[in-house]
Amino acid sequence: MPFEFKVLRSGSEGNATLVRSTSTAILIDCGKLVADAILDREIRLAKGDVDAIFVTHSHQDHAAARLLDVAALLNVPIFVHPTTLEDFENTVHGRTILSGLEKASSTIKVKSLGEKARVIGDLRVTPLELPHRGGGTSVCSYCCGFVVGWKKYSTPYRLGYATDLGHVPKHVFSHFAECNCIVIESNYDPNTDVKAGKGWVRTPYGHLSVVKTGKALRHIIDMKGEDSRLHHVVLAHLSETDNDPATAREAARAHMKGAAVKPRITLANQWKALSWIRVDA
Ligand SMILES: [Zn+2]
Ligand SMILES: [Zn+2]
Repeated sequence: MPFEFKVLRSGSEGNATLVRSTSTAILIDCGKLVADAILDREIRLAKGDVDAIFVTHSHQDHAAARLLDVAALLNVPIFVHPTTLEDFENTVHGRTILSGLEKASSTIKVKSLGEKARVIGDLRVTPLELPHRGGGTSVCSYCCGFVVGWKKYSTPYRLGYATDLGHVPKHVFSHFAECNCIVIESNYDPNTDVKAGKGWVRTPYGHLSVVKTGKALRHIIDMKGEDSRLHHVVLAHLSETDNDPATAREAARAHMKGAAVKPRITLANQWKALSWIRVDA
């Protein structure tokens, strides 16, 4: 029975990843550009293709103003942390989501995402709180990543997902050390100049640099050594202005040199989907 994922888009214009088994599929995030692509039929997703949408946080590259239109098209519930719902009050696009919810509350189910895992069909989705706050008019008070695995926890296939975090906390390391595949951001090259108004990106509550991501990946492998099951890493959420794919790939490769296992590295793309990647390969 396959357990696989496909990064549909990743970057500051919009993020979304599909995770599926034979009988269950979830969509993690539905950022602006992705929602547009789904509603314009550029990304072909229809009713029955997905069982639930999980939202990491309130930023519009993860929760588009048209999020509810996508949920209505797919006829699925949205899982969102209650604090993220409160965060929607503070942004224009978030208020659009909330006003849509008031009108459509009878048809679109919004389910509360807490600390505990949720089981959707045969997949178990465990939320992990991440250190990420945003800046300017888009400050958010809660952000999460996920570990997606089989419903039966002892089955050893897991995908780790963390796209917005300023540093990697201990609890994320311990979860990711158990993962077969990891989608993690490699957001900016620290050798580039800090852009006006973007200082928050480089704080411990902003995003990960290519160096921090490389170090984190090495630490994740070293925690298990030869017992590490990590076989595929997707570097995601690359800044269009302060990074480039070659720099991100090279930083990850350099830090993992000589590690006990050598996971394949794939770069996520802002404008087109990656191929399906098997978690249980
Ligand atoms: Zn964010
Ligand atoms: Zn983001």
